[in-house]
Amino acid sequence: MECYVCIHCHFYQPPRENPWLETVESQDSASPYHDWNERIARECYLPNGASRILDAERRIAKRAPEGYQRILDGDRESQKLFSGHGAALAQAYNHTILPLSNSRDKRTQILWGIKDFQHRFSRDPEGTWLPETAVDLETLEILSAEGIKFTILAPRQAAQLRVDKDSPWIDLEYGADSRHPYACTLPSGRTIALFFYDGGLATAVAFEKLLFSGENFARRLLSHFDPEGDSAQLMHVATDGETYGHHHSHGDMALAFALQYIQENKLARLTNYGEYFAMNPPTREIRIKERTSWSCAHGVGRWESDCGCNAGGGPGWNQQWRGPLRDTLLLFSIGRLQM
Ligand SMILES: [Zn+2]
Repeated sequence: MECYVCIHCHFYQPPRENPWLETVESQDSASPYHDWNERIARECYLPNGASRILDAERRIAKRAPEGYQRILDGDRESQKLFSGHGAALAQAYNHTILPLSNSRDKRTQILWGIKDFQHRFSRDPEGTWLPETAVDLETLEILSAEGIKFTILAPRQAAQLRVDKDSPWIDLEYGADSRHPYACTLPSGRTIALFFYDGGLATAVAFEKLLFSGENFARRLLSHFDPEGDSAQLMHVATDGETYGHHHSHGDMALAFALQYIQENKLARLTNYGEYFAMNPPTREIRIKERTSWSCAHGVGRWESDCGCNAGGGPGWNQQWRGPLRDTLLLFSIGRLQM
């Protein structure tokens, strides 16, 4: 059995510029930094770009230049490491919840995301990350039509599986097995590949202090391989990138240690989604649950209604305002209302 490991980080911060001043104003809550962009960059983006690993003398070994350049360099380096496949993925341009957008806006978001990616990384993207992994078939159709080969979803967004064309569809009560990629056949006849990240591991990384120890993190990753299973298996986890360093201080170091530990001890082969897809194209087929996401148990209700999620405030806070706000913005967008 060949074991592969891939850790994907979704890095995203909303625009914080004051639209009138076009600068980010001082944010007291981000103290001692000027604002949250600066704080998160210092705590997470810069350290992850530098891959700090404490050696035996607890000195910090740093390699790589600053900030944005580190991200671009990282993608270039990943192409050398992973048979020409870069680790960076495109994403929808504005972090829009695509199943709630009309067809034209979906297409615009995806096309702008691809153009932006080409401009920055000087190559075509192989995969696209969907904001909040929110998905519907129309979104997948547009991705596939634009040449995108795969995206990544949460395991509970899988509805049905069949192991091959001659087998019956099976309901996936407990979500998809993350160790394999799947093909999703779309109404047009096109297909797109889907990876479903390991949900238990993502929760442990984000909320259960798994990043206290890089070695434990590595061991937990490796414990999910099935010795009786397929000849090739992928253990992968996708979380917000800010988990590593911002939400969990020094989480970037646990990540760097875990990857080094796996590689040096030859416990698995490190890869990325593009390389794994090229080496092990999906043989199983899957059907998705329409209009679902990784962060709302009610589908995509969190961004359009008072679904039961409480993503904003304390007791008594609710989302009843989201429907009317969205309706009003829609009226503006189709020209029925004017300022
Ligand atoms: Zn919800």
